[in-house]
Amino acid sequence: MTKLPNSRSRPNRGASDEFVHPNLEQRTLWSVRCTHCDLSSYHGNIPRFTSTKQLWTAMLARGWTRRDDGRVLCLLHTRVADCQELGHAMTDWTPHVVDPTALQWRYCQRCGANFAQRVRSDG
Ligand SMILES: [Zn+2]
Ligand SMILES: [Zn+2]
Repeated sequence: MTKLPNSRSRPNRGASDEFVHPNLEQRTLWSVRCTHCDLSSYHGNIPRFTSTKQLWTAMLARGWTRRDDGRVLCLLHTRVADCQELGHAMTDWTPHVVDPTALQWRYCQRCGANFAQRVRSDG
């Protein structure tokens, strides 16, 4: 091991600099980030776990997924990816709030996208 030239001239403060109070504890905490939005879906409140098993149990229960292609997705991106793979899960045509007698609308109840509207055809 090579010392820096200056280190011999400095007083050795190693022991006091590295003093760890007995009440302090060092632990490893695990968190997971979405492949697509990183930590955005947490809105600043990142959950941390003491084991990866605990992490996956909690995050999979919250709707996160581990995809076959290696991606890890938050709830939102899981829903979007599911719609890409399975197609949208459209609601039934329902009366439109703007004109319930003449217009109908529907949207994907999984990802919230694919909004569509039409003029009623049944009169
Ligand atoms: Zn995401
Ligand atoms: Zn969808």
